[in-house]
Amino acid sequence: MDRDFDLVIVGGGMVGASLAVALSPLPLRVALVEAFAPDSDAQPSYDDRCTAISHGSQVILNTMGVWQDMEADASPITRIHVSEQGRPGIARIDAREQGVPALGYVVPNRSVGKALWKRLPAQSNLQSFMPAKLVSMQPGENAVELDLEQADGQVLSVGARLVVAVDGARSITREMAGIDSDVLDYQQTAIICNVTPEQGHQGQAYERFTQSGPLAVLPLGEKRCSVVWTVKRELAESIMGLDDESFLLRLQEHFGYRLGRLLVAGERSSYPLYRVKARQQLAQRLVVLGNAAHNLHPVAGQGFNLSLRDVAALAEVMASLEGVDPGTPAMLEQYMQWRREDQDKVLGFTHGLVRLFTSSLAPVKLARSAGLLSFDLVPGAKKLFARHTMGRAGRLPRLARGVPLL
Ligand SMILES: Cc1cc2nc3c(=O)[nH]c(=O)nc-3n(C[C@H](O)[C@H](O)[C@H](O)COP(=O)(O)OP(=O)(O)OC[C@H]3O[C@@H](n4cnc5c(N)ncnc54)[C@H](O)[C@@H]3O)c2cc1C
Repeated sequence: MDRDFDLVIVGGGMVGASLAVALSPLPLRVALVEAFAPDSDAQPSYDDRCTAISHGSQVILNTMGVWQDMEADASPITRIHVSEQGRPGIARIDAREQGVPALGYVVPNRSVGKALWKRLPAQSNLQSFMPAKLVSMQPGENAVELDLEQADGQVLSVGARLVVAVDGARSITREMAGIDSDVLDYQQTAIICNVTPEQGHQGQAYERFTQSGPLAVLPLGEKRCSVVWTVKRELAESIMGLDDESFLLRLQEHFGYRLGRLLVAGERSSYPLYRVKARQQLAQRLVVLGNAAHNLHPVAGQGFNLSLRDVAALAEVMASLEGVDPGTPAMLEQYMQWRREDQDKVLGFTHGLVRLFTSSLAPVKLARSAGLLSFDLVPGAKKLFARHTMGRAGRLPRLARGVPLL
């Protein structure tokens, strides 16, 4: 068994596993360390949620060769309808206007996981340690020593020229590297559920800003919709405790009758919402990615999409090494400088959206309606917004342009 690697990826969630696959054509020895077996019910990344994958992310996944294995479960979003409960403004974004077949796709997280994990065993440059947990780490001048605790309790030591910390918002790897993070508790909880409405969604996604928080209703398959309903934390428990009929009535009050009556509700799950931002994303021979770097409010469906662009950029920097040590500060700075602008924009936009739509101040309320109305009337503003939502703004990595790494 190989014990020395160019890259050790700690965390095989949606972002870590995507990076492992993205690196597959490169002449690098890669290890992937994941605490859970991919088919474990406790796996936190590939759970009951669905992810809205932007057009740009679809291009990345397609170029990586994994889109084909999730496509059958992906529901295209051809229009987005944005509204606010009790206010007149409405905004619409249409895929045809943007010149793309779909603005994005709704894919169950389990399908994303299946497609990624299907690729990994056959990848010749990859060794998976799974289930195995990183328990300690000692950075050195030429390599980082990592101790991995396996399922049988045995500890295995491996070396890495570069460690990628992609072990989630509460990243232990980030902590071990001495990187602090800023945590903002939104005091909100996202309730997730699939519902079947009376009328077909016809590919339309709805983003509705309600008094209790933003509500996204996304197309899922022919008939169902995936609901992400953000509510104030103090209401979450009582909403989670409602029987299905009362839950559907409550949801209907907030969503309205755009899709007729809401008929059937699936199982519900809930996620307390925090913004977590690592104060740095680089340390000695280490880079922080995914939720470990920036854990976002799901209001704009940007968390995974942003991270996938980070993955594509890091993989491209790794593709340019030509024998150079991947853990040198110069290589890592190259990545960080490239990604800083996109990250700042998406973090600012997402946080701004939460703040804008949770303010009860009258001038802010007025500005919101005016904003939604003018947004729909001004094609330039809309195009810019759509480009960001679709993941097509700024300097795009090769994978996001449909160009393979090698
Ligand atoms: C309700 C909700 C809806 C969302 N909707 C969208 C959306 O529509 N579009 C979008 O782009 N984003 C969305 N997101 C964000 C998206 O889910 C995240 O960006 C994404 O899951 C981050 O993946 P990750 O791999 O960074 O972290 P995680 O999913 O947290 O995975 C971390 C992995 O690390 C492993 N791990 C942890 N500790 C260790 C250790 N010590 N050793 C080894 N392994 C370890 C864990 O087992 C896990 O597999 C949503 C988020 C929420 C909460």
